[in-house]
Amino acid sequence: MHEPSSPHSSAVDNLAEQGLNLYAVFELSQLPDSIIDDLKQSDTDLDKYSRLVLLGNGGQRFWDELEKVQIDVPHPVDTFSLRLTEAFIKTVSAADDSSLIVYPQSDVMVPLQQLGNLAGWGTPSPIGNSISPEFGLWFAFRAAFLTSVELTPTKNEQRPSPCLTCVDKPCQTACPAGAVQASSSTFKLQNCITHRLSVGSSCAATCLARMACPVGVEHRYPPQAVRYLYSTSLQSIHNWLAEK
Ligand code: SF4
Ligand code: SF4
Repeated sequence: MHEPSSPHSSAVDNLAEQGLNLYAVFELSQLPDSIIDDLKQSDTDLDKYSRLVLLGNGGQRFWDELEKVQIDVPHPVDTFSLRLTEAFIKTVSAADDSSLIVYPQSDVMVPLQQLGNLAGWGTPSPIGNSISPEFGLWFAFRAAFLTSVELTPTKNEQRPSPCLTCVDKPCQTACPAGAVQASSSTFKLQNCITHRLSVGSSCAATCLARMACPVGVEHRYPPQAVRYLYSTSLQSIHNWLAEK
């Protein structure tokens, strides 16, 4: 996913060894207006930067590495991702320390799915998450930063969605709430939330539709990671409802 000949390749390799094995560099001047408009919404001064870097994890390694470092904080995934991102920036920046982390934990709106599509990492799937031809539904966006360091833009290869050739669509039949429809734009979020909040829900700590997808099953996150992700998102739904 990155250029082996890049002058920063060892830093990129180090990220991959820690589980952030998806790396894309975009020239800001080449990004579509809709993405630039989103980035500008929080009054970010984009003139100070020339690149947007997107980092992600595909598969299990990130979770294995996270378990090794044992971060005992409320948001260990974000904390670990930020730690790796800050170390990467420090390595590639030399005297330039003006890079700005815009995801996670910032007010800047970063259209992650659109950037992921541009990077060739994945395309929208019927369950809402992006799907990768390689990792299936088992990848995620972990960090993004703006920088003036002239990092080599990555070659972002576009690949067709595996959903186009998935005839049986087991994600749809596995969803007990009828939330998963033919495309991401018709995903019935309210059905999903209602089912997840129900007493004894079969989706309290998992997504049966995601688990049923046959693409990239060898990259499926470890069971404790799946439990953590879905228990955390269920708690976020509870918190959101309590604040309404
Ligand atoms: S089960 Fe098929 S349609 Fe559903 S997300 Fe996976 S590949 Fe796409
Ligand atoms: S979490 Fe459950 S209800 Fe929601 S989409 Fe997945 S399978 Fe369907």
